[in-house]
Amino acid sequence: MTPEPRRTAYIETYGCQMNVSDSELMLGTLAAAGYDAAERPDGADVILVNTCAIREHAEQRVIGRLGELKRYMGRDTIVGVTGCMAQRLGPRLLESARHVSLVIGPDGYRALPELIDGARRGQRVTATEFDLEEHYEDFTPRRFDRVKAWIPVQRGCDYRCTYCIVPTTRGPERSRRLADVVRETEAIVSEGMTEAVLLGQTVNSYHDGAHDFADLLRAVGTVPGLRRLRFTSPHPNDFPDRVIRAMAEVPSVCEHVHLPMQSGSTAVLRRMLRRYTREGFLDCVARLRAAIPGLALTTDVIVGFPGETEADFADTLSAVEAEGFDDAFRFKFSAREGTPATRMPASESVPDEVAGDRLERLIATVRSGARGRNMALLGARREVLVEREARRGEAMMARTRDFKTVLVPAKTARPGEYLLVELTGTTGSTFTGAPVRERAALPLAG
Ligand code: SF4
Repeated sequence: MTPEPRRTAYIETYGCQMNVSDSELMLGTLAAAGYDAAERPDGADVILVNTCAIREHAEQRVIGRLGELKRYMGRDTIVGVTGCMAQRLGPRLLESARHVSLVIGPDGYRALPELIDGARRGQRVTATEFDLEEHYEDFTPRRFDRVKAWIPVQRGCDYRCTYCIVPTTRGPERSRRLADVVRETEAIVSEGMTEAVLLGQTVNSYHDGAHDFADLLRAVGTVPGLRRLRFTSPHPNDFPDRVIRAMAEVPSVCEHVHLPMQSGSTAVLRRMLRRYTREGFLDCVARLRAAIPGLALTTDVIVGFPGETEADFADTLSAVEAEGFDDAFRFKFSAREGTPATRMPASESVPDEVAGDRLERLIATVRSGARGRNMALLGARREVLVEREARRGEAMMARTRDFKTVLVPAKTARPGEYLLVELTGTTGSTFTGAPVRERAALPLAG
């Protein structure tokens, strides 16, 4: 008897690295249930769209994409929506997209194979209950990246910033046990990876009941064979000195922090409910820089938050200049349904053209600062880890420990290799580099 062909599942991922990590978990559990991963939607038995709800624009893209995916559906194809938008809209998604039969929030992936079977029998299901115990501990992720591993250590968020939908879509904060994170790190090293990125909505507020983030950095960072440890995204309020000491003392912890500032104005930060002041943020940066020589800093900034005056925005620009960020994700505020910011008086709204103008000025300030700092690095030597083929040209994309992107000649580099390079050119944001030592001199750890 010919065995039945294995079914195939295609997952399209939007949004943050936590979603990428969740897609890896979903593909892992589907593999265990007899599915092969499909690279494309055409012909897949199951199509899942793992969504982001953080911005209106991200949701509109998904709505459009769901319409497009119809053309790849065969008679028995199951289409599902997972992630934050699924959690936010729930059954409304089933009503607005008749070809979708599954809507599953971030805590519902354990039941994915059974829910798909139910959909095959004609059910249309919403699964959006929070499960505060759920860490998918027994799942084996099917990783997309072979060079670095995304390792979730914490899910949910308790901060409740007034512009943010995450506490609604991902629920309260909970942390994995330290021993489980260490075990996963050992597993990725045994698979040949040498870099781990710890993931959490406010990753440095990690606490498993017995261990805090400093303990986690020391335990994960000393797993034999792990050469680089990163984390994203931290909250400025969760950097006590013992965490900063651990960052400085554990050699694998990289000299880069993505530290969301959001605004340089205390008045705006208060309305955002960020729970720190401008001075508190600057103090956090000063303590990090004092402890970690050569630290690179990147950030997130929102402009046009309700009530933001020109003086508030000037405070943001001056903080960006003073802090010397290496890069910044810049956003124009847009209110998300279901967040406290939607209840702020209409009279406080910043007109779109004013917000747009501020965004342009912010971009110019970030770029000119980064360009100056990067030009000063030309001629310097850096260790890079080769990640993948570059999008354009005959080059490979590699990263320094301080998170600079360096393009190196393809013939000298393979993914997963460490090279010592001289920074020979910069566009202002990315670099080109020339290897200066035989790769044999810098063996892979492990
Ligand atoms: S800290 Fe604030 S911005 Fe970050 S996920 Fe939590 S509520 Fe959202």
